[in-house]
Amino acid sequence: SQANLAGYKAVILGAHHSARIFPMLMTAAGTITPSKVLIFGAGVAGLQAIGTAKRLGAVVEVTDIRPETKEQVESLGGKFISFDTGEVKIEGGYVKETSEDTLKKQREILGKHLAAADIAITTALIPGKKAPILITEDMVKTMKLGSVIVDMAVEQGGNCEISEAGKVVVKHGVKIVGEVNLPSQLAQNASESYSKNIYAFLTHLANKDGFKWEMEEEITKGTLICKEGNLLK
Ligand code: NAD
Repeated sequence: SQANLAGYKAVILGAHHSARIFPMLMTAAGTITPSKVLIFGAGVAGLQAIGTAKRLGAVVEVTDIRPETKEQVESLGGKFISFDTGEVKIEGGYVKETSEDTLKKQREILGKHLAAADIAITTALIPGKKAPILITEDMVKTMKLGSVIVDMAVEQGGNCEISEAGKVVVKHGVKIVGEVNLPSQLAQNASESYSKNIYAFLTHLANKDGFKWEMEEEITKGTLICKEGNLLK
């Protein structure tokens, strides 16, 4: 629930820091072309970011290392950018590892899309590991002056090589937004949905008679860290 809200906020932040509007406008003063938004990662946050950017009228391009996300991206009106990912280790729907070779190929293909983008939003995470570098400093140098990067992975080391946690910095003429804890900027919805998550979790594990101790049940098994005084691996 928190990633979903953060994906929305990332687009709003990107729009705020951009010097361009999102939609196409045809007026007597000429035609304004729509903003191009490039989203890295089509997980929970990325999918919400696509929907939000589309609703504001942007042209949205998206990449992800899990091929099954292509259909989800297209159903939201985004254009999917495929690349040869090689073999990707996926467990429970989450990417476990990305090789340097895959990341190199991805940077080559995505480079020209990034150079044309007005806003890039990066959401790519590898649970339990440092976030992969998808945008190097050299790639930032190719971006248009005044374009914006919102690095949602900044707390896990960043998807952009030169983003700084907790700061908005301008480097090579590009604004790089490294704000942390985006859900806290939508505190009302974040607290409401988080409390519902916790309530659902607790009522799943226990009933009025106490803890259910269903040791083979997936969620109980996956979240138990200590049993009879012993830490579980
Ligand atoms: P996540 O936050 O761990 O990662 C975000 C996205 O980054 C993922 O889509 C991942 O494939 C992508 N990514 C990793 N390396 C990349 C790279 N090099 N380039 C581009 N993209 C890269 O993942 P998530 O958003 O929590 O969701 C992952 C899966 O779990 C999805 O199938 C989702 O539907 C499922 N899921 C998650 C939750 C949840 O609460 N987190 C709930 C229901 C379903």
